Amino acid sequence: MNNRAFVFAERPQGMPDASTFRMVESPIPELKEGELLLRAIYLSVDPYMRGRLKQGRSYAAPVEIGQVMVGGVAARVVESKHAGYVADDVVIAYLGWQEYAVSDGKGLRKADPSIPVTAALGVLGITGLTAYFGLLDICDPKPGETVVVSGAAGAVGSIVGQIAKLKGCRVVGIAGGDDKAEWITSECGFDAAFNYKTTTDYAAALKELCPKGIDVYFDNVGGPITDAVLPQINTGARISICGQISQYNNAKPEMGPRLLSMLVVAWAKMQGFLVSDYASRFGPALEELKGWYLPGRIRNREDIVEGFENLPSAFIGLLKGENIGKRLVKA
Ligand code: NAP
Repeated sequence: MNNRAFVFAERPQGMPDASTFRMVESPIPELKEGELLLRAIYLSVDPYMRGRLKQGRSYAAPVEIGQVMVGGVAARVVESKHAGYVADDVVIAYLGWQEYAVSDGKGLRKADPSIPVTAALGVLGITGLTAYFGLLDICDPKPGETVVVSGAAGAVGSIVGQIAKLKGCRVVGIAGGDDKAEWITSECGFDAAFNYKTTTDYAAALKELCPKGIDVYFDNVGGPITDAVLPQINTGARISICGQISQYNNAKPEMGPRLLSMLVVAWAKMQGFLVSDYASRFGPALEELKGWYLPGRIRNREDIVEGFENLPSAFIGLLKGENIGKRLVKA
């Protein structure tokens, strides 16, 4: 039996393309005592993966040419010589872009059988936790405040807006499509949204949709959208820098207006974070997210691409905004 994997083939300049990854096949090794064989069921594709394809300063080492591409996976145990696992157990692990993986059990977490396995890679996994801590810990939203979310119809952004609604806020989303704006307002409860791809004057749109100014900004994208938000923040505003996806394919930092003085005049706080900073608090946070998700108080939309061989195109499509909600690949 052969394993299929995608390795990193060529460091991209700008948007990754078909030459960025290469599929390789290799025999699956015999299991030794203490090992188990896993087969991927769902693989997560995420914007942070673009960062791993770059060299230079980051919070994690880059992927090397020839290395199996990294990534979170839900996988089923095919065979086990490990005391802690039996065939058909389902685990969540960082196994990378491969169909099969041999593991000694390190870094595996058994999936919670009371939730769909796809949710464990999304709303009840890293996605939900990112929304939870990035919004609640950094921004501490209060009832009646106005919260603006960029990347609002994506995996993290759509959960951020729904948590902000649970906290009694007015929530305005910015997303790249009329269908996306429609989904977050009609299904996710956002109060208003606009499509940044067809809106020419972001500042005017924000002024209209946030008549009392902006108290909290949850930023997934950066760039011109964030440039339009900063001049409209209220005194005491809190800004969570979750991601800057509009910049991930740039070779050099983009020149924009220099707006940091807005933080001074508004006594505002802007903070970047990594979800892993909060690892010691994941347990209770997941319980709270589950308590919102299971009775339908927060909705989780999944955008599932069929076929292991479509991993690279699913990832590139995510960077181009094809997805609504959490994008996964079904192996
Ligand atoms: P996602 O939002 O589901 O997917 C990415 C979305 O980014 C696309 O659907 C696209 O939507 C948008 N996008 C792409 N290019 C853009 C551009 N030039 N300008 C504006 N929007 C653009 O992905 P996600 O997993 O939820 O991640 C969202 C953000 O959170 C990313 O920046 C990611 O790096 C960050 N993140 C951070 C942490 C952390 O620990 N800090 C953890 C997880 C994720 P549109 O159609 O709206 O353009």
